[in-house]
Amino acid sequence: MAAKRRILIAGNWKMNGLKKDARSLAGALGTKMSKLKSKPEFEMLVCPPAALLGPVLDAVKGKGIAVGGQDCHANEGGAHTGDTSAALLKSMGCKYAIVGHSERRTDHAETDAMVKAKAEAAHKAGLSAIVCIGETLKQREAGRTKSTNKKQLAGSLPEGATARNTVIAYEPVWAIGTGKVATPAQAQEVHALIRAELAAAIGEAEAAKMRILYGGSMKPGNAAELLALPDVDGGLIGGASLTVADFWGIAQAV
Ligand code: PEP
Repeated sequence: MAAKRRILIAGNWKMNGLKKDARSLAGALGTKMSKLKSKPEFEMLVCPPAALLGPVLDAVKGKGIAVGGQDCHANEGGAHTGDTSAALLKSMGCKYAIVGHSERRTDHAETDAMVKAKAEAAHKAGLSAIVCIGETLKQREAGRTKSTNKKQLAGSLPEGATARNTVIAYEPVWAIGTGKVATPAQAQEVHALIRAELAAAIGEAEAAKMRILYGGSMKPGNAAELLALPDVDGGLIGGASLTVADFWGIAQAV
């Protein structure tokens, strides 16, 4: 029997919003969640900029919305100006940390080994790691979609990864913030590949339970067909997570 995986609708706010915006967006989502009559079929997560974690955690308290960091450092503490440790995220009340987002791989030259170390730090602190992978347009056009994702997954997957402590996010770089979304066939092909690679790495049973999110221009209008794919277990959403109507619209597509 196929494993039942709870859909994760995760918002990556990136470097957007001021304190007042964060409060009103998180507050409005909290109000929507608390009006639901039964437990939703999805889990909702918001990942604000680090400086806004406090106000967002306050705004969603008791509303059934998880909060996560957009990154964490691989070390537990020390001389790392401007960075955030996984233990600090955990102590604030976070449940997740995104690691290896393509913007961090590009802007901060993060390698697979660094992403793996960050995911392991997240686990050590008691957080679930959302490990991002995905090919660029150049790699896709060169026929290297599968090999790129296989290599990134193998290099970034933390030791001891389980379906409880790890989520994979497939985010084709060419689809992030561009309005170009992967077709259902393109998304399912890579998601199935990721699940097969996970099965080889951590065993079939654990791979069947692990959530694999799609990220890249997911919107209310395209979410339903992506979320209905057999190996798509949610979305990592950037632009559309910044408005209540769009983010809630995607959650409703579940
Ligand atoms: C992202 O930042 O992870 C992302 C998928 O962005 P967008 O939804 O804007 O493409």
